[in-house]
Amino acid sequence: MSRTNRHPIFDFLEKGLQNTDSGLGDRSTYIGSSDIGQCMKKSYLSKTLGEEHNLKQLLIFQRGHVAEGIVKAGLANHPKKIGLQEQVEVKGYGQWTYVQSHIDFLVSFPKEDVILECKSISSPLPDDKPRLSWLYQVQLQLKLAKLQSGRDTRAIIVAVNVNTGEYSAFDIEFSEVLLNTALSRASQLWEAVQSKTEPEGEVSDLCAYCSFKTQCSTLLKNGEKLPDEVDAMVTRLKELSPLENEAANLKENIKAFMEAAKIKKGIGVKYSVMMSEIKGRETVSVQFLKANYPEVANKVIEAGKPYKKLKVV
Ligand code: SF4
Repeated sequence: MSRTNRHPIFDFLEKGLQNTDSGLGDRSTYIGSSDIGQCMKKSYLSKTLGEEHNLKQLLIFQRGHVAEGIVKAGLANHPKKIGLQEQVEVKGYGQWTYVQSHIDFLVSFPKEDVILECKSISSPLPDDKPRLSWLYQVQLQLKLAKLQSGRDTRAIIVAVNVNTGEYSAFDIEFSEVLLNTALSRASQLWEAVQSKTEPEGEVSDLCAYCSFKTQCSTLLKNGEKLPDEVDAMVTRLKELSPLENEAANLKENIKAFMEAAKIKKGIGVKYSVMMSEIKGRETVSVQFLKANYPEVANKVIEAGKPYKKLKVV
């Protein structure tokens, strides 16, 4: 297996994933509820230029589908049968005909409907709060779903980390203030798309995953002032640093005890611990090679690949 040469299977998979129908239609012809919350410039560029994602981004997107699949399995297989609809399209009317949303799941109970919006997360949410962009999206869904059905409607955002199995849920109350902000963002974005006027970007932690990051004037100009989400991550990283040292010390102490006691497995009240011996990697002494076989050394020794180091000060 080579780490540097990509196997052709991935070119094949990339094409297939790029060709997957999102079920959301032509997104340049309407403002979707998820466009409203994200960076206006990104939404604008993706609508006007289109967006091609590489395999890595496509794989990350698939985690969202996995999270949805998990929630669906829990809803559809529950012994109590519920009225479950998926990808329910709701639309604005009057001056808002260009606004649309696709609700992940709509569960109908006799007295109310419940919107379930699924999110995939890869790290704990700052302050364990839902992202503002999710709130805009769900406020719009609440309003449009209620207008469409005439029924009482509430919403829950379910956030799942498909790597660690951690999960959070947030009950979302309807808020006129948030709805108005969401609608105002929708109208600004729609006007920008109609008049082909590129809006300013809104720098956040999500810039790291944005397809337009290399050409984004806002990010290049304003990247130094950390956005709130990244600032919260830096603070949390600093808080966790002592724990990293503590964990390393604890491991050393536990290993030392198990070595002294000549045991490979220890049973505790809550957890067990197992120690195994991993074969060391073969190494080459660069100094020896250079001193004794300089002609070989010149041919085989390469400069190490540069890597990024982060220091929180
Ligand atoms: S890089 Fe950041 S600011 Fe620029 S378009 Fe993308 S999300 Fe917006």
